[in-house]
Amino acid sequence: MFTQKLPRQSLGFFPTPLHRLQRLSAVLGGPQLFIKRDDQSGLAFGGNKTRKLEFILADALAQGADAIVTAGAAQSNHCRQTAAAAARMGLECHLLLGGHAPQQAQGNLLLDQLLGCHIHWTPGHRKGEDLNQVLRYLQKAGRKPYVAPYGGSSDLGALAFVGALEELRAQWADCGGPFTHIVFASSSGGTHAGLMLGARLLGLPTKIVGINIDKGAGGERPFAEHILDLSEQAATRLGVAESFSRGDLILDDGYLGEGYGVVGDAEREAIGLLARTEGILLDPVYTGRAMAGLLGLVRGGAFQASDRVLFWHTGGAPALFAYGDQLGLGDAPPL
Ligand SMILES: *Cc1c(COP(=O)(O)O)cnc(C)c1O
Repeated sequence: MFTQKLPRQSLGFFPTPLHRLQRLSAVLGGPQLFIKRDDQSGLAFGGNKTRKLEFILADALAQGADAIVTAGAAQSNHCRQTAAAAARMGLECHLLLGGHAPQQAQGNLLLDQLLGCHIHWTPGHRKGEDLNQVLRYLQKAGRKPYVAPYGGSSDLGALAFVGALEELRAQWADCGGPFTHIVFASSSGGTHAGLMLGARLLGLPTKIVGINIDKGAGGERPFAEHILDLSEQAATRLGVAESFSRGDLILDDGYLGEGYGVVGDAEREAIGLLARTEGILLDPVYTGRAMAGLLGLVRGGAFQASDRVLFWHTGGAPALFAYGDQLGLGDAPPL
């Protein structure tokens, strides 16, 4: 177990469930599909950030922090899970959210408010560009703030997904052993970096296929480089030396749609199809787009019928309640 020795603060319910997608597989007529349910990780509606926060909050507590500061979009799942984790540990939480305060809070923002965090609106950006201001303010007030990285994607956040693969390996016997592919939404890179490093360290035959959901991911740098660096840094933190190059990385840029957080026909179809065939809810920003990517890959012949493809559900469904106007429910096919 590579991650066993690292300090970890229990925040969620693990292992998350793993099961088949029988009806979706039949409808598509392609490879056998499976799903890993990190949407059921249990912390205030769950999601992939809960895994990362178990390591990040352990670090914050070890450093004697009394406040957690992080940033994201107004409907950030990372911010909602961070707010819940901070509440659970009795820490103050400050969120820098992109945009302006809406008249009425919905979805994740409503939950942020219920969870009692302090919200700082940052018009024009959503990745913590104004973080130092809030830090200075807290330090002046005598607090010990700790910055949880954007999307929880530090070396610590990434290696949570090495642990996630260890968890998956321990439960996959019921589903017939290793998977040929794992498909998931990639955005701040921690999930991707951790799964890639985990597959390497555990010697898995699995292709780690990230669907890029944010054109601006990576900021100034190419997103791919950012993921490769994160994998190497997470390895270093585990005390192993691993190097990764562009050829090790599968990052599909073919489903970026109209931009971050904009729901298009592909996302609407994917969300509706999984809901109607399996009774599982995806989110409008990440998993809806990643599932659109999976559907596109299946229909485009990227897999063989004998392949066993795992979709990693990274959570996010609370955002559905803020996206009613974009989900076009009036267009659902008649029963
Ligand atoms: C943050 C998030 C992702 C992306 O994970 P990263 O590790 O940031 O790349 C995917 N899905 C959901 C629902 C998320 O909240």
